[in-house]
Amino acid sequence: MKKAFKRILYGGDYNPNQWPREIWQEDMNLFRKANINSATINVFSWAKIQPSEHEYYFDELDEIVEMLSKENYDIVLATSTAALPAWMFKKYPEVARTDYYGRHHKFGQRHNACPNSLVYQKYARRLAEELAKRYGSNEHVTCWHVNNEYGGECFCENCEKAFRVWLKDKYQTIEALNKAWNLEFWGHTVYDWDEIVLPNALSEGIAKDKTAFAGMSIDYRRFNSDSMLENFKMERDAIRSFAPHALITTNLMGTYKNLDYFKWAKEMDIVSWDSYPSYDTPWSMVAMSHDLMRGLKGQPFMLMEQTPSQQNWQPYNSLKKPGQMRAQSYQTLAHGADTIQFFQLRRSVGACEKFHGAVIEHAGTENTRVFREVASLGNELHSLGDQLLGADNPAQVGIIFDWDNYWALEYTSGPNKDLKYVNEIHQYYRYFYEKNIPVDMIPVDADFSKYKAVIAPVLYMLGDGMQPKIESYVKDGGIFVTGFMSGIVDQSDNVYLGGYPGPLRKLAGIWVEEIDALAPEQSNTLRFADGTDSVCHLLCDIIHLEGAVSLADYTSNFYASSPAVTKNAFGLGTVFYIGTQLEQKALEKVLDQVMASSEVKPVIDAKTKLEIICRSSQDKLYYFVLNLTNETLPLPQFFAGKVDILTGKALTGQTSFAPYDVALLCDERQ
Ligand SMILES: [Zn+2]
Repeated sequence: MKKAFKRILYGGDYNPNQWPREIWQEDMNLFRKANINSATINVFSWAKIQPSEHEYYFDELDEIVEMLSKENYDIVLATSTAALPAWMFKKYPEVARTDYYGRHHKFGQRHNACPNSLVYQKYARRLAEELAKRYGSNEHVTCWHVNNEYGGECFCENCEKAFRVWLKDKYQTIEALNKAWNLEFWGHTVYDWDEIVLPNALSEGIAKDKTAFAGMSIDYRRFNSDSMLENFKMERDAIRSFAPHALITTNLMGTYKNLDYFKWAKEMDIVSWDSYPSYDTPWSMVAMSHDLMRGLKGQPFMLMEQTPSQQNWQPYNSLKKPGQMRAQSYQTLAHGADTIQFFQLRRSVGACEKFHGAVIEHAGTENTRVFREVASLGNELHSLGDQLLGADNPAQVGIIFDWDNYWALEYTSGPNKDLKYVNEIHQYYRYFYEKNIPVDMIPVDADFSKYKAVIAPVLYMLGDGMQPKIESYVKDGGIFVTGFMSGIVDQSDNVYLGGYPGPLRKLAGIWVEEIDALAPEQSNTLRFADGTDSVCHLLCDIIHLEGAVSLADYTSNFYASSPAVTKNAFGLGTVFYIGTQLEQKALEKVLDQVMASSEVKPVIDAKTKLEIICRSSQDKLYYFVLNLTNETLPLPQFFAGKVDILTGKALTGQTSFAPYDVALLCDERQ
């Protein structure tokens, strides 16, 4: 158990530089009432700190740091490199990005630097160094926040040249590259590295998300993710050279597509992320994102941003209802967070985020519902102390999440345009969520032997070494669940010949001869061995058994009576293969069997719609009980007689939970 902080950080993005001095003291007084103990500062201040190429100005930031230090804040110090100053664009236009359509941008917006611009790199590194030199030894600066929400992509000439270098390093010879990308197709063979052009709308791009050569476009995504990761590492190392023990992070964005976060997390000291579900995001999806962020390092994470009330950038920015922010914060802590931070502490007066919620709203007072709720949660977390920090989230089920697969699957031209990676993963996650079975979201290179069951939906791209890894896991008794669009291609998106699911064929004991695609208005039917019927959608594998047994057969279409769901004994373990998109009830039927075979148990043995999560410290088990539904629910008997740590109230068998009610209960570890 590793504690990153001495207390639960409670606060958020704070931009006093956007306000006159007289407001600052008012802020400090109000924050004290809310038990705010942390501020993330300097996120977008590059233009102020460096007003021109050779001039740095730190007076104002010094004042801010001093004010927060006096108040004993944990300062999360950002490096400000996510939005470039105007002078840099004027003097060095190459720092701007070129977009997918080939348009070279001017000064504007944020996340606007070409990651391969040497000028950008030079000034970003220098800024991080200057900051670390100045504040690296301040004991109140307990975390460094590099850049902000890295993302987007660049298609400029700098990047094209750097891409060629990246490719040369990866493939060594031009022949290997031609083969990997299958460039013989349409006669696109290249004979020289300089003939390679990056894939965008002017070259191989078919539409924004489709491409004539997926192998090339997937490599470009890898390259773009790596390029930005190099930017992060560069700033991280600059900070380290003046503050060798600094805790360094950058805020991630859940299932954000463009960056391979598993690769990133290896370079980060702690994962932090910004959670912004919209009004209709299922709670299971929010939970999955938290589990993914915890899974990146297999450690507690920071919630760097959430809104206390509403967002501004979604189509419909609903208010969080009374109690919702509190419940959502505890759900976050339950899934492994050690901090609760907001964007932001005081609401902007202008520009595009003026309607983004904040702890202090435009009214400027403590007399708002939002402030009262923030203050009340602050007091609760203060009372809770440090007991939860560093606690684990033990799980016996691993669900594979893999950015290579995310990219590759969504680049495929055919068989069905509605196939979306995150939705497929979430459908499986939801089953475990609803049963209160803890799950780790794991990378393809995870140690599978830690898990009784490994779930691998749409494992379309199977990299080198994956087949023997899965085989030895199952041979030793592991339960492996996979299904349609799995085992199809190698790391370059070239198909494994010899019948689907390629390297998984022997393991699953099946051969998929054809894959049918269903339009939204179409469906097929299937019947389970117990005689129950169900419908299925999206894709239908036409399966031949090669040792597996069928758990459900199709009952419609020309492939009626052929298997849709199968189970195969392999060594001491079992492989389940789900060849079509099942409705949730039917998926539940299959996964119930998986859980029975693997002997995985939920957190408590009770059927309930409450979300129940357990974090465990060295000597204690902490049970979070959350009602995230719209109905009042009874408390499972398991908890009767225990005391809610948050309110001090004893719970009884008659206790009921209203919507957004939360309790935190504690047991000694056996
Ligand atoms: Zn570029």
